[in-house]
Amino acid sequence: MASGKLVVLDRTGVLQPPAEHSLAWVADALARLSNAGFTLVVASNEPGISTGDLDLDELEGFHTRLSELVENRGGTVAGFFYCPHTDAEQCHCRKPKTGLIDAIELEFATPANDMVLLTDQRCDLLLAEATGATALVVLTDQGHNTQVNYQGADLTTCANLAAAAEYLLAHY
Ligand SMILES: [Zn+2]
Repeated sequence: MASGKLVVLDRTGVLQPPAEHSLAWVADALARLSNAGFTLVVASNEPGISTGDLDLDELEGFHTRLSELVENRGGTVAGFFYCPHTDAEQCHCRKPKTGLIDAIELEFATPANDMVLLTDQRCDLLLAEATGATALVVLTDQGHNTQVNYQGADLTTCANLAAAAEYLLAHY
């Protein structure tokens, strides 16, 4: 896969679809990107694993369902990376710390400045700043809050995941 076309997606909000959309709708957007040559990787903070609020089987079940839906459309999700820790555990992978991006750089031999972080969360904006990646904000409810609270920065935003896919297809 050519470098420069690696998209790192947050899970909650971006992939876990808002009420008006189905997971199939999410898979449609991802498959369009994958079929156009983008490498798609999911990288999420999952502190619920550590606290017991999120079952690992549940998380992996979501990964499997999403992968299958994208594969049914001829695409692929290349990898799932997550931090299972809480803030208190002071790990190196909880975003905006760079551990997940470091791992993705290694696995896909792609420098962070060739990555686009597709997100609605502030931690990914900080992570983009720290690593040299580009952030693209999806305007979920959380994304609107993130945009409002992230003053002084020039943020590129998209209305939803489908619009983000259009943007990436047009600009990369
Ligand atoms: Zn961690």
